[in-house]
Amino acid sequence: EPLVQVKKLSKYFQISKKETLKAVEDVSFDIYKGETVGLVGESGCGKSTTGRCLVKLYEPTKGNVLYKGKDIFDSKKNSEKLEYCKNTQMIFQNPYSSLNPRMTVKDVVGEGIRLHEKISEKNLDEKIEDLLKTVGLNRDHMSRFSHEFSGGQRQRIGIARALSVNPEFIVCDEPISALDVSIQAQVLNMLKKLQKERGLTYLFIAHDLSVVKYISDKVIVMYLGTIVEQANAVDLYKNPMHPYTKALLSAIPEADPKIAKSKQRIMLKGEIPSPINPKECCRFVERCTYAKPICHEAIPKLKTYDDNHKVACHLF
Ligand code: SF4
Ligand code: MG
Repeated sequence: EPLVQVKKLSKYFQISKKETLKAVEDVSFDIYKGETVGLVGESGCGKSTTGRCLVKLYEPTKGNVLYKGKDIFDSKKNSEKLEYCKNTQMIFQNPYSSLNPRMTVKDVVGEGIRLHEKISEKNLDEKIEDLLKTVGLNRDHMSRFSHEFSGGQRQRIGIARALSVNPEFIVCDEPISALDVSIQAQVLNMLKKLQKERGLTYLFIAHDLSVVKYISDKVIVMYLGTIVEQANAVDLYKNPMHPYTKALLSAIPEADPKIAKSKQRIMLKGEIPSPINPKECCRFVERCTYAKPICHEAIPKLKTYDDNHKVACHLF
């Protein structure tokens, strides 16, 4: 059984009487214990909104999120709610805005621990010291304020905070995209190492396919609120099917000059259309070079092909 099951999830925001922003539309996928699922797409495609529904920061408009078979929005028992909050954590994109600058590191990291267990001040200090060590910081950092730290250090504090309650599942919402390129790999490696050591399960959100390639077992590509393709990471990179995935892949810089020479960059025409009152057709149609008449008339369904490779496109 999957650890997390997302079933026909939709999240709408009512902008005005006539305008509905359909941020996420009919999205379904499973996440198994210990794996990393990469969720990729340009900004505004609904990936953060999906992630936020999974940690209960948003309530879905339609659909369900199950954790170990139980609907996370259905539980009425407080103990179950608290248990879910403990098991599921989020690492945010912006380490500058996600940490309260006036809180000490001890308070930031200790907040969740205090909420979930009775603990003496001495044991709390020891626990926080351990957590800080785990993320490459130390005891001396405990009494300092988060605004005193660099972006990379702040994200380490954010990771320590997420780990503080021993979660099983972490939604990482573009955890490295706001960081200097020089420290992105460090943080990514740390997340990988932590996953191995602690058996963590990740939903890893990113806006380009190069980052998730390194960390994901499975990759989901979203476009304008919908899933356009989903596959094992190896299959997706070797055999991308959806025209949008192909375009995203072609944008990844190639280190090997031999391959780079033969690689053609697919330029997408136009801009991402507005997710407000989207048309009932393929949402990629205005930008797709393969569009056929049917693409303007019907929403392509996500269908499964070989080896659990799923794609939503009328070409197949
Ligand atoms: Fe392009 Fe049509 Fe496929 Fe949409 S359904 S991606 S418009 S070919
Ligand atoms: Mg986002």
